[in-house]
Amino acid sequence: MSIALEHVSYIYDPDQKVKKYAVRDVSLEIKKGEFVSIIGHTGSGKSTLIQFMNGLLKPTEGRVLFEGQDVFEKGFSLKGLRQKVGISFQYPDNQLFESTILKDVMFGPKNLGQSREEAETNARAALKVMAVPEASYDKSPFELSGGQKRRVAIAGILAMNPDYLILDEPTAGLDPEGRDEILELIRTLNWSQGIAVILVSHSMEDVAEYAKRILVMNDGQIIMDDTPREIFKAYRDLETIGLSAPQVTYIAHALAEKGFLPYDTNVMTVEEAKKEILKVLKK
Ligand code: ADP
Repeated sequence: MSIALEHVSYIYDPDQKVKKYAVRDVSLEIKKGEFVSIIGHTGSGKSTLIQFMNGLLKPTEGRVLFEGQDVFEKGFSLKGLRQKVGISFQYPDNQLFESTILKDVMFGPKNLGQSREEAETNARAALKVMAVPEASYDKSPFELSGGQKRRVAIAGILAMNPDYLILDEPTAGLDPEGRDEILELIRTLNWSQGIAVILVSHSMEDVAEYAKRILVMNDGQIIMDDTPREIFKAYRDLETIGLSAPQVTYIAHALAEKGFLPYDTNVMTVEEAKKEILKVLKK
């Protein structure tokens, strides 16, 4: 099972004299169960790229395949695709619109043709998974805090039983606690239910901690596709395109320069730094 992009390119305004590609000749495959992050500075093409994956945008060139089938071919159900591949956009307010949280989360399943009862069962299960307190199900989604809104928006996707969950900056504007909570819930979904997660993020700390694979975008292209460890080893290259490594990586390198850590330190998370430092101290 996979989503594959084959030589996809996209131009927003084809009438321009000089063609400006938002995405240029990208090929990649994401398999069910993966946890992939997409990083890149603003305008590098991340949002455009994710919208191919559930058929919201049709590439100007190239093909989008879901389970090996061209999603823009006649007869392919885009509605079915959007059930299997859900996107949670950057601003949850734009995805919430019903009068109560429960109704909001039921909207997707009902739209798929489920009965009220079935939709409600699925909605309740999804809200539970996203740790939304039952006491708030009858509240308006607009009364919620930023973190809760995010969770309700994600529950709305989960209620449709997707195989792929695409999250565009799910932690933007949240405090560290809210950020960790939501990322932990997402990680649990990934390993316990095998839902593939595609996480667009500006936080190098978050992607180092959670992703198993990172795609680095620059100027509409994917310029690196590797494990977080390998990507952040090349932090000098990331800097040339306006990105960086997690802060703790810099601290570890500074310590290594002073001889306090091995010169080939590859630390990406605070937990790893702690272990490395303790190792040295114990010697
Ligand atoms: P990112 O998500 O990495 O910030 P985007 O995919 O939003 O990048 O943008 C890629 C390029 O496409 C940028 O140059 C951006 O200005 C342009 N772009 C994005 N959306 C539109 C749009 N609706 N109309 C015209 N150009 C757009």
